[in-house]
Amino acid sequence: MNDGYEAFRHKESQALSDLVQKRFHYLQNPSDCSTARKLVCKINKGCGLGCQLHHIVYCFIMAYATERTLILKSKGWRYHKNGWEEIYMPVSETCLDSEGETQGTWPSTDVQVLTVPIIDSLNPRPPYLPLAIPADLAPRLIRIHGDPIAWWIGQLLKYILKPQPETAEMLENGKNKLGFKKPIVGVHVRRTDKVGTEAAFHSLDEYMKAVDDYYDQREMVERIDKRRVYIASDDPKVIDEARRNYPQYEVIGDPEIAKHAAVSTRYTDTSLNGIMLDIDLLSKSDFLVCTFSSQVCRVAYEIMQSMYPDASSRFKSLDDIYYYGGQNAHNVISVMDHQPKSTDQISMKTGDLIGIAGNHWNGFSKGKNIRNNQNGLFPSFKVNNKVEVADFPTYSHIDE
Ligand code: GDP
Repeated sequence: MNDGYEAFRHKESQALSDLVQKRFHYLQNPSDCSTARKLVCKINKGCGLGCQLHHIVYCFIMAYATERTLILKSKGWRYHKNGWEEIYMPVSETCLDSEGETQGTWPSTDVQVLTVPIIDSLNPRPPYLPLAIPADLAPRLIRIHGDPIAWWIGQLLKYILKPQPETAEMLENGKNKLGFKKPIVGVHVRRTDKVGTEAAFHSLDEYMKAVDDYYDQREMVERIDKRRVYIASDDPKVIDEARRNYPQYEVIGDPEIAKHAAVSTRYTDTSLNGIMLDIDLLSKSDFLVCTFSSQVCRVAYEIMQSMYPDASSRFKSLDDIYYYGGQNAHNVISVMDHQPKSTDQISMKTGDLIGIAGNHWNGFSKGKNIRNNQNGLFPSFKVNNKVEVADFPTYSHIDE
């Protein structure tokens, strides 16, 4: 945006990030671990890294909202048996054990050590789950960021994902070896076990069309010497196909990484390195083209939000709109009346709340009008996103 407020946005974004990172640090480093209130989170979800990171972030939100230190339990982790702390820095410098006088499971919150189930099974469901952002941050955040919830998740990921020196070295070497440099569009092509079960197939040409559009736009205002893409996939053929069919592009990517990403070989140290590198480089790209049905891509998008004051427009999803698995309802607000033009459309009055289920990318979205209970299609331009806000502790005693 060229409105003369770029410097303000940079400064304000940095200040907000510093503020929440300081709060996380305070929460995670109690002076006496034996009496600290704790929230225990097991990385036991039988799913991929993106899904597990979202599980940890959900636990961290619960910890932040209930003022408890997050304790990660990761021995026997499917990606690395010795646990999280050999790959990433421990989430606390002072408190890693889950000992305590009293133990209990949500919603028994009057215990010292609280365990929470996976987000889908959480009951009752507190209002501060995604897509809600903390009320005390909302006015400042909404002013500078186009997708505040992605920023909030990005900040939680930023705190959790501090690589151990060996991991940092692996990421740096991987980046250099591949020749990753800007300008670059990160393309994530999710195939194998996902296609036909949880997501539809999309051809490489569809992804590359979106990449072309991105570069065409940039070239209207600047010269691009080389159109470059970084391709991450769980299907090695995709990288070969891109090299073959798009010679005008510099294609960066490693079919070897993709080979280890396939479902049969997914949970080894080699594949963990591969997926960490892929997520890192996707998040460092100028723009992301992917399917938001994949948690890999959503994680990359969320991390990207901590790299720019506002990276909310730096993506193109070929399928879903942004969501957080297990989220509370996602509503949009109608800003114009709408009369149905066919039986599959719904009627709307200005100010109606619509629970949105998805965008069909043909000008229409699908959802349910909460006022009249109609379920169906409506023109996407007639609604605005509703930013959900919830009360969290404000940690005001440490903000001075
Ligand atoms: P989702 O299934 O796509 O929603 O995402 P998850 O992260 O939960 O599970 C997919 C897993 O497949 C990842 O964590 C990786 O282990 C592997 N995978 C998928 N896509 C890629 C990719 O582009 N690169 C690499 N290295 N691994 C991938």
